[in-house]
Amino acid sequence: MSAIGAYVSACRYTFQCDIQDESSWLELERHLRALRGQLTCCVCGLIIYHAIGPAHSACMHHVCEGCRDGKMRLRPACGWCGDRKEFIEKPQLDILVQCYRKLCDYIASFGV
Ligand SMILES: [Zn+2]
Ligand SMILES: [Zn+2]
Repeated sequence: MSAIGAYVSACRYTFQCDIQDESSWLELERHLRALRGQLTCCVCGLIIYHAIGPAHSACMHHVCEGCRDGKMRLRPACGWCGDRKEFIEKPQLDILVQCYRKLCDYIASFGV
């Protein structure tokens, strides 16, 4: 699933979620974890900061600009993102990171 797809389903689930129902919360947590996975740097393992990624592939392996030369924690290694000199900026991913943070703030405002 793409990062945008993961974000849309996490949002949809946030609005459907029943605060009184614990299984509903667990499901929401699963969606958020999937989204977070899409927004995680393959090098440092943190939420991505200034995302870059392969120009022409859909492998979804993004890293922070500052992590360009770091070792990717991928097993097995990915053939698509071999040459990171060719990586380009992915501004849409930076926007999704902001959206993810907002969504987390919103969920936190429920007070649970
Ligand atoms: Zn990083
Ligand atoms: Zn890759």
